[in-house]
Amino acid sequence: MSDRDNCYWLKNAHVPHSLLTSNIGIPSTSEQLCLVDLEIKKGKINQIIAATDNTDESDRIDLKKRIVLPCFVDLHTHLDKGHIWERARNQDGTFDTALTAAIADAETYWHPEDVYRRIEFGLKCSYAHGTKAIRTHIDAYGKQADISLEVFQTLQQQWTDKIILQAVSLVSLDYYQTPAGIVLADKIQKIGGILGGVAYENPALDSQLDTVFVLAKERNLDLDFHADENGDPNSICLQKIALAAIRHQFTGKILCGHCCSLAVQSEEVVRETLELVKQARIGIVSLPMCNLFLQDRQAVKTPYWRGVTRVRELQEQGIPVAFASDNCRDPFFGFGDHDVLEVFEQAVRIAHLDTPYRDWIDSVTKTPAQLMGLPHVGRLGVGLSADLIIFKGRYFSELLARSQGDRLVVRQGQQIDTTLPDYAELDDLVFARP
Ligand SMILES: [Zn+2]
Repeated sequence: MSDRDNCYWLKNAHVPHSLLTSNIGIPSTSEQLCLVDLEIKKGKINQIIAATDNTDESDRIDLKKRIVLPCFVDLHTHLDKGHIWERARNQDGTFDTALTAAIADAETYWHPEDVYRRIEFGLKCSYAHGTKAIRTHIDAYGKQADISLEVFQTLQQQWTDKIILQAVSLVSLDYYQTPAGIVLADKIQKIGGILGGVAYENPALDSQLDTVFVLAKERNLDLDFHADENGDPNSICLQKIALAAIRHQFTGKILCGHCCSLAVQSEEVVRETLELVKQARIGIVSLPMCNLFLQDRQAVKTPYWRGVTRVRELQEQGIPVAFASDNCRDPFFGFGDHDVLEVFEQAVRIAHLDTPYRDWIDSVTKTPAQLMGLPHVGRLGVGLSADLIIFKGRYFSELLARSQGDRLVVRQGQQIDTTLPDYAELDDLVFARP
């Protein structure tokens, strides 16, 4: 695929029916996979037809039912925190310790080169694994906002042909009620970012939300909140965000991440919240790996709660649901490799998305692309860029059973080198002493 001239056929590919942009009348399997031939021409998908023997031998690659997906979309990440584990370990695995460790690490180490190289490392992993678009939260208190957002913009520019990058400001919502918060909102507008923050239950939450919605409306910004990342049934920030959106008749996009406490609330509260979330047109992103790591973590006790929000009920209600990486090798999550296939695999197992698979593959492709305002990403259609991942797995059970580290990644019709960056690249940073 790399040196082939501009035109070739990928024959007998299994593709999810839900990711095809037009209904081409091809029957699908019980897992909703269609057997198709794709013609790639000049970096784009030129044709998608039902699998047939009807093409010239010379320019065809028989995939023998291997699954082909559009490149992934990683909707919620923290690239600025990534890969600091070796110098900022989470000693007890709890959320509170993670927060303290990350703040201390930022104060000591987060100068421009440190932030640049760790974000770049994350991008190299994402690129090799087949991700096309990433939204990252950026810790944005005080001077760190200037440092990290400038680094972000540099990398956004440098990677523009490879990965579409979006930045969200990450502060607690009370910050927007200070002069520094207004400066931050202006900065986010200037760089074309998304206004974001962590909503915590507190007596001033409604007033903080009012401020944030007004700032976003004045600047025509979309919103992205961290909400209810805990197991406290009294934590109903998601509901309060929805009420604020309705109160302000907000027309921009709103995304809420985590929403873990929804899973431990009464059916009545859940029903009420879901109705409001639907009415407010809020999308939800669940972070299954990080939430499995942090939620229900208690000394000596075995965890029994999985940490994910009510993804199935949300989807039943017609609310867009996505899954994403969240943190990677930092105090909030000690593992990860920016591989969205791993995210999907974990989501399937944790939230039982295999009975049946339905169109859950949308949750790491089409749905997050829509929530990022990228209608041409995360789908398979004629005229779209040929940004594809070709797996060895032919069915979901094969795709999700064995590591697919040997996948082929095609970008604009060309096969890319999928070598992952070596951990040693960051040794001088992560093993450094201040
Ligand atoms: Zn997060």
